[in-house]
Amino acid sequence: MRGYAMLKIGESGWIEKDKPELGPLDALVKPLAVAICTSDVHTLWEGAIGDRHNMILGHEACGEVVEVGACVKDFKPGDKVLVPAITPDWNSLEAQAGYSMHSGGMLAGWKFSNFKDGVFGEFFHVNDADGNLALLPENINPVDACMLSDMVPTGFHGVELADVQFGDTVLVIGIGPVGLMSVAGAALRGASRIIAVGTRPKCVEVAKGYGAGEFISYKDGPIADQVLELTNGEGVDRVVVAGGGCDTFIDAVKALKPGGKIGNVNYLGNGDYIKIPRVEWGVGMGHKDIRGGLMPGGRLRMEKLGSLVSSGRLDVAPLATHVFHGWDHLEEALFLMRDKPADLIKPVVVID
Ligand code: NDP
Ligand code: ZN
Repeated sequence: MRGYAMLKIGESGWIEKDKPELGPLDALVKPLAVAICTSDVHTLWEGAIGDRHNMILGHEACGEVVEVGACVKDFKPGDKVLVPAITPDWNSLEAQAGYSMHSGGMLAGWKFSNFKDGVFGEFFHVNDADGNLALLPENINPVDACMLSDMVPTGFHGVELADVQFGDTVLVIGIGPVGLMSVAGAALRGASRIIAVGTRPKCVEVAKGYGAGEFISYKDGPIADQVLELTNGEGVDRVVVAGGGCDTFIDAVKALKPGGKIGNVNYLGNGDYIKIPRVEWGVGMGHKDIRGGLMPGGRLRMEKLGSLVSSGRLDVAPLATHVFHGWDHLEEALFLMRDKPADLIKPVVVID
């Protein structure tokens, strides 16, 4: 089979590989559509998870089941499926402890294009198929289905980590596709006021549609100063971090009220330490929580988030700004995600 791979840090291209072999619990899936992620950019060009040789890239897809292992009960060839970017081992101790995304070690629930070949190939392997796949609802098209692999579950996880409550004022730092889903998730959770940080006009327009009412540019001075000015010096109840870098936490802590919570889903691709401002962290006693997490994967989450889309409560269509048809456009789509032109939110390639 053919797959589009990371050859080494900074170099990618098409390669030939054997079809993946299946264990008794696994499934072989043929992609119906794949989406490119900022994490692919971190992996390939920044080498953020270290070097990888001839590893097929990609972790966002929906597909059709081609073959299943002998012990798979709930899926059969021909089923169209949602596929989470994170595919934990559900019988691991970490999963039993409630942290399935770390099954087998920290972040090890993230397998596609990390520990094994990803989804930018003619076929891909899904471990623990009954625990990780979900049937694709009929009224969700393959492009929207790709947004359920990672963008919805990650953006919403930022909201879960920040524990957004009814009536909260929420600051969402970063409104790429992940932060846009954090805006949408915060609105669904009952935030009364959502302040968003980002500059790309297309993202600002879409964020307004999802419920952000005020906007801040990180290019116009410290984020925290601007937030404090907007909130009469009080700050916000919750912060979701979906963009920026290590120093963003300085602003997040400064912008937060005592008792507030920060939820980070940003992938910190470089830097050694995160600084916490001593005084604004209440000299160690401010009850300002900082939590960061890889999104949970798995079937139940896919089914629940899929039902939000199929019921019409969440419209993910505005995210897919660039839709291509055919594998021949995969490289173009990947390079677009690296270059991030002003009108881009998410590139998707439909395999038809
Ligand atoms: P984008 O690059 O599309 O968006 C980043 C956002 O951050 C943009 O709005 C950008 O603004 C803003 N930004 C850039 N620099 C700063 C800064 N210095 N201060 C504040 N905001 C800034 O990324 P995605 O939405 O695709 O992904 C966001 C992050 O989430 C990535 O790091 C990605 O790897 C990670 N991720 C994490 C996952 C998880 O499970 N935890 C899963 C998937 C992704 P502007 O409008 O100016 O561009
Ligand atoms: Zn992703």
